[in-house]
Amino acid sequence: CGIIARIGRDEAAETLLSGLENLEYRGYDSAGIAVQNGSGVKVHKCSGDVSDLESQLDETPHGNVGIGHTRWSTHGPPTDENAHPHTDTAGDVAVVHNGVIDNYAELREDLHSRGHVFESDTDTEVIPHLIDEYLKTTDETELAVRRAVDTLEGSYAIAAIVDGEERVYAARKGSPLVLGLDDGGWFLASDVPAFLEHTDEVVYLEDGDAVVLEPHDYAITDLEGRPVERPVDTVDWDP
Ligand code: GLU
Repeated sequence: CGIIARIGRDEAAETLLSGLENLEYRGYDSAGIAVQNGSGVKVHKCSGDVSDLESQLDETPHGNVGIGHTRWSTHGPPTDENAHPHTDTAGDVAVVHNGVIDNYAELREDLHSRGHVFESDTDTEVIPHLIDEYLKTTDETELAVRRAVDTLEGSYAIAAIVDGEERVYAARKGSPLVLGLDDGGWFLASDVPAFLEHTDEVVYLEDGDAVVLEPHDYAITDLEGRPVERPVDTVDWDP
């Protein structure tokens, strides 16, 4: 299983799909991507291989911001509905997640009582709904994402995109997440092979880190929003 995110000048979908292929060695049962292009968040996902996902796409969805996922099911069988990305009820927030959310059942019950509609059996689906709920309390999406992440118990590497925002939000605890830096933008992934054909400049994130990627900038903080310094490393591998 693995996650990937891309923000750059190119078509994100192509980079996401090739990145997911490079993460296939981690094993998975479903795959999906979501791309943001200023006219909505478009989600494409299915059970099966990355090649099954590619053959479902009539054309590459346009947009320079996106997230992708290969799923190894822990909560709910490997169906199209349970594949990631998952969204909030309106479809404005899309999330990919590796790991397990231990308190998802109580979060789901609470969100359901607030009118949120769930479409999958996964633990993950509470995350976009939580972000949507916290967006009712603040205009700052990064604060809403950090509050949502802070509510989660369990293990996670998460990447999220939001309709109308040229940004990727991410966080990790107990699941790997690495940032890749190239001239044209940024990558996030579970492991370096996802983007090694594009860049060998990386920042290894640590548990408790939250990240915001923008086209020309990135910021790493803790879950309180305090800036965190992480060194830039050069990966010493042959692609
Ligand atoms: N627990 C999540 C699910 O079952 C994520 C699994 C994964 O890490 O791929 O969908």
